[in-house]
Parts: sequence; structure tokens; C-alpha cells
Amino acid sequence: MNREPAFAPGDRVAVIGLGVSGSAAALLADFGGAEVYASDSAAGPGQVAAAARLEARGIAAEAGHHDMARILGSDLVVTSPGISPFAEVRQAVTAAGIRMIAEVELAYRSLTSRVIAITGTNGKTTTTHLTTHLLTSSGIAAEAVGNVGRPLSECALAERQPDWVVVELSSFQLADLDTFESEIGVLLNLSPDHLDRYRDVDSYYGDKARLFDRAGADPTWVLNADDPAVLELAAAAPGRRFLFSVEGEVATGAWSDPEGGLLARLVEGDSPVRWAYPDDIPLIGRHNVSNVLAACLAAVEAGVEPRTLSASLRSFRGLPHRLQPITERDGVLWVNDSKATNVSAAVAALNAFTRPVILLLGGRHKGQPYAALADAARQRARAVIAFGEAAPLIVSELRDTVDTVLVESGLDSAVKAAADLAQPGDVVLLAPACSSYDMFPNYMERGRAFEAAVVGLQPAESAP
Ligand code: ADP
Repeated sequence: MNREPAFAPGDRVAVIGLGVSGSAAALLADFGGAEVYASDSAAGPGQVAAAARLEARGIAAEAGHHDMARILGSDLVVTSPGISPFAEVRQAVTAAGIRMIAEVELAYRSLTSRVIAITGTNGKTTTTHLTTHLLTSSGIAAEAVGNVGRPLSECALAERQPDWVVVELSSFQLADLDTFESEIGVLLNLSPDHLDRYRDVDSYYGDKARLFDRAGADPTWVLNADDPAVLELAAAAPGRRFLFSVEGEVATGAWSDPEGGLLARLVEGDSPVRWAYPDDIPLIGRHNVSNVLAACLAAVEAGVEPRTLSASLRSFRGLPHRLQPITERDGVLWVNDSKATNVSAAVAALNAFTRPVILLLGGRHKGQPYAALADAARQRARAVIAFGEAAPLIVSELRDTVDTVLVESGLDSAVKAAADLAQPGDVVLLAPACSSYDMFPNYMERGRAFEAAVVGLQPAESAP
């Protein structure tokens, strides 16, 4: 295990991106004695405020511009999680032959905690938080790191580091790892995503495969037995492996029984042991059972007693914007799954309901065909309401399968159209299968706008 610092005091370190992770990386590099320059091509209120905060601590920082001469004169470049492999600034750094690492790699070098790494196309944040919850509920100090959790650089700066960090890794971050090693690595699922940013599916999967290069001396893999692409990617990885499945029993690992409870067998040939009953599962949908199985296996491998799982699962609360029920009104359940920013997440969301669904789809197109939604839409959707930039494309790809409504204006109008169509017993589901960037700064703002529009539909007499 190599946890030597990534730079020497006095080195010039450039940090690309001024989000929470980039800002924390700048502070960590500054703490280590580097001469830091942090920049972001965007100049939104968040980036401007972050630059001001760093400047106030004597760290050079700039929003709205990358000083390329300064970046290319650095000894080390650190990338924030959101920086795509094809961002221009990265291409320039690569061409100049300057060492470039991810923010998690920088942080890892000053970290004493043990590492569980979680990746996959969908479910990373949910599984990262659930795994952390299972660990902390049994008294093991752990922190969730990533999209919703704390940046790893902040953990590395903390006075006391947890025993375990549970790190959500995107493909972009995996591309910039170097010495980072996980003791336990989880690969949840693989489906095409980010085709707007990757050349093709193989290069996206190629970055995910880097998880298996980044393992400690005696790694444990937690792998989705129901996903052939996952098994194929992991085929050559050395180490122990536990499988999880929602389709049936596995030789070593955990699976769900037909009623939705969890069974496990960690030693081949042993009898199965019950880990949880159907009522213990804290989240909606089969895809979430898959996430729960993965989290339980990772947690048990990190030292959690299986007999504690059932109670710990019960106390987990799902994360906002992920199949989050908003309200049930006049027999109609309104659900916010704004984080469903790709087609496979929207399919999983549709399949989570047995009630008829009115599905709100739309936003900025990410390159995946909506026809992949056709089977689930045929079985579950009463109608599709298409909004945002991608609306015409969605309608043209799905109108032969399901009733479609094209909404010319924004999300508010889509919510009104859904309210007009909905019948008692229906679910109205925002699972847009697109990014939010045509109308919102991020999926959270889109989710909040949806909630506000839904609440705005309430009859006046029920308002506070
Ligand atoms: P990520 O961090 O990988 O984006 P999240 O936990 O934030 O994952 O969930 C993202 C979206 O994917 C949500 O809409 C969620 O409902 C859906 N999702 C979660 N787990 C899965 C899964 N195993 N398969 C398919 N979709 C999933």
C-alpha cells in the first residue's frame, strides 16, 4: 500500500474545478505546503463564492477562467469529480505530459482509513449511503464520500479519520486514479450512459474496469450476478468474490427470495442464512433490492454482524430525488426521481410500481435511445409526458408504444398536464431519463421545482 503524499512542499499544484471536492482538494494541497492555483471555467454563484473563500485563505483561485499558462506550469494537476475525460483543459494537461490525478487520489494519499469503493452506472449514491449506515449502526466509524457525502479531501483534513470510508466512484474519477486501492470493491451494474461525453460504450466501460486495477493485496469484490457486463468486466480480477442477485440463488453471496427477503451464503456449500425479511427493505423497487444486497455484503465483509442487518435496514431513510414519494392526493401518488438521468434508471423506476404510471420524461438528451423504455412503458405507463429539449425526440421514439403528450413549455406545465390525466390509483413519476441542464443547474433543482409544482397543485383550502 503506497500512501505517500502526491506532491512535495513547495510544488505547484493546480486544482481543476471549484465545487465542494475541488475546494477541499485546494485546502488539502495548501495544508501540505503546495503552492496552489484552483480554477473553474464556470462563473456561477457557487464557483465565485468558492474562489472568494479560497482567496480569503491566501490560496490563488479563479472562477470563469482557467489560466492555462499557470496550469501547464504546474508539477501536479488535480481533477474534480465532475470534469469529463474529454474536457479541453484535461486534453491540454495530458498533451503537456503533466501528472494528473483525481481529487480522491490526492486525498487517499493522506488518509489512514480503510476503503470500500462503490461504482456502477446507477445506484452508487444510494448504496454508498446505505453501506455507511449499516456500518455506523453497528458501531463501526464510517463516512460516505462522493456525490452527496463529504469530499474525501475533507475527511483527509479532519483531525480524526473514520475506520472506513465508503467512496462512491464515477467513471470520470476512476480514470484519474493512481495508487488508490480499495479493500472491498462493489460493481453494481453497467448500462450505457454519458454517451454525450464518452466516444462509445467501450471507453465508458473501460474506465469502470479500472476499479479492478485499483485493489489492495487481498481484495474482495461484490458483483452483480444478474448483469453479464459486470461479470465479464470482473472476470480476470484476482481476489475473493461475492455475488448478489435478485433473480435467484448464488454459490457465494446474497440473493432475494421470491417474497423479497434476503438470504446469504458466504462459504460455498453452506446452508443459506436469512439476513432480512421483506418488510425490512427500506426502499421501493427491485433495483433497490439489488443495491441493498450489495450494501449488506460490503458491510458484512467490513465487519458488520449479519444478525444486525435487519434492524439497521429498517432505520435507513432513502435519499431525496431518488424515487422519493412527495404526496398522495386524490388517490394519486406523486414521486420525484429527478436523479434518474439516464434511460436505465427510468426503466428501473417504472418497473418499481405495479400501479399505472404517468411518466414525465425530458430534459437534455444524453445520447441514449428512448426506445429502450418501450417494454416497461407498454406494461406500466398510462401516458408519457415529454418536456424540455428532448421532448420531440422522446415523442417520436415512443408514440407508437404509449400515449404521449408533448409539452412545449417547462416542468410546471408538464406537472399540470399530468394532473389533468391522472386517475385515482395512478402514480405520477418524474424519472426524466435526461440531464437537467436545459432548464436547471442540476437534478436537485429540477427535483425541487417538481415538488414545488406538485405542492402548488394543492387545492387552496388545504394550503397552510
Ligand atoms: P448514482 O449515484 O449511481 O447516480 P443514485 O443512487 O443516485 O445512483 O440513483 C440514481 C438513479 O438511478 C435514481 O433515479 C435511482 O432511482 C436509480 N437507481 C438506483 N439504483 C439503481 C439500480 N441498481 N439500477 C437501475 N437504476 C437504479
